[in-house]
Amino acid sequence: MTRPPILPGSVINGQPATLGVMGGGQLGRMFVQAAQRMGYFTAVLDPDAASPAGLVSHHHIQTAYLDESGLARLSACSAAITTEFENVPAPALRILAAQRPVAPAADAVAIAQDRAQEKAHFTRCGVPCAPYAVIETPAQLAAVKDELLPGILKTSRLGYDGKGQMRVKTRAELAAAWAELKNVPCVLEKMLPLKAECSVIVARGQDGAQVNFPVQLNLHREGILAVTEVHEGNLPAALASQAVAATKSIAQGLQYVGVLCVEFFLLQDNSLVVNEMAPRPHNSGHYTLDACDQSQFDLQVRTLAGLPLVQPRPYCPAIMLNLLGDIWLAFKDAPPWDQVLALPGTHLHLYGKLKASPGRKMGHLNITGATVQEVRATALAAARLLGLEPF
Ligand code: ADP
Ligand code: MG
Repeated sequence: MTRPPILPGSVINGQPATLGVMGGGQLGRMFVQAAQRMGYFTAVLDPDAASPAGLVSHHHIQTAYLDESGLARLSACSAAITTEFENVPAPALRILAAQRPVAPAADAVAIAQDRAQEKAHFTRCGVPCAPYAVIETPAQLAAVKDELLPGILKTSRLGYDGKGQMRVKTRAELAAAWAELKNVPCVLEKMLPLKAECSVIVARGQDGAQVNFPVQLNLHREGILAVTEVHEGNLPAALASQAVAATKSIAQGLQYVGVLCVEFFLLQDNSLVVNEMAPRPHNSGHYTLDACDQSQFDLQVRTLAGLPLVQPRPYCPAIMLNLLGDIWLAFKDAPPWDQVLALPGTHLHLYGKLKASPGRKMGHLNITGATVQEVRATALAAARLLGLEPF
């Protein structure tokens, strides 16, 4: 059943049409900004008084995610509600869904929150993932096959940016790592020979129609995304279309409504293996803010409001550099943005976080230009100014 669209700038029950979001991080902030540009009012639920999205939203409800009064206030002021990170408790989304349209649905988010369920879903959709075993009991630990080693032990839930993961070479290391992860439910994944990493972002509407951004080539450092490059030929065309088709089938299989990102590994033998998915816009899609006629956040607004989806069009090649707290710590103050912004085609996005710490995502720099060569040269010059390693 499709619901009527929530039109931008309209008045609903005497209130300006308002879109709500669970979570007030940078993804919520960029969602709020996209929604406001289109004329919506916005509401954010996040316990942190200084949350990046709360700072720029019309309404900021400062309660815990499962606080009943907070959830009631969010649904009272919002015409529809989305989420900006996958660790918003699925029960909170279920409570909201009893009152208002919620996209993506709690069931889809719940699958993305759990690596074991996520991998089972990929397999159901016919998309291969790394060989793995679920480890929830000592018996399952003992039954792990030797061929999964060396491997990476990952907590099934709540991992991000390489947190909640340990690399293990032997059965003894595996047992010690599981103990160190407090014996919580985990998956052990075989360590694969990676040639590259990439991701695909799609948006799927209530009617099942899907649109996609071009495949993103991603460089991670210490488990955290560092650089995303998007241009024609960043990956061989056949692999790129395989990744897009796999992402669409994963979204379709979830009956997903919203923006979904799927991360892939490209192996040394040129085969493609799915890694994980995020039920929301993704760090690797931030370049769309400056390099495409619609950003991933614009599409999140459209899917939530039930507006039509049209295929986004990239204007030009783009590179995104993630700006982690380490840069601030190295400069002991504001990094030299004046010099960076003197480079043509640089677009600075900071998230309003006042305290830098190692690995903390403070912002990103998008670089656009007429040619791949020009974009790369500018990105490398910006990286040099910021003390980032070349790529
Ligand atoms: P997170 O949720 O922290 O992003 P990921 O599962 O994406 O966790 O792992 C983080 C990074 O670790 C990946 O981007 C990749 O570089 C590396 N990695 C993860 N799993 C594997 C694997 N099975 N084989 C090789 N490298 C891996
Ligand atoms: Mg990842």
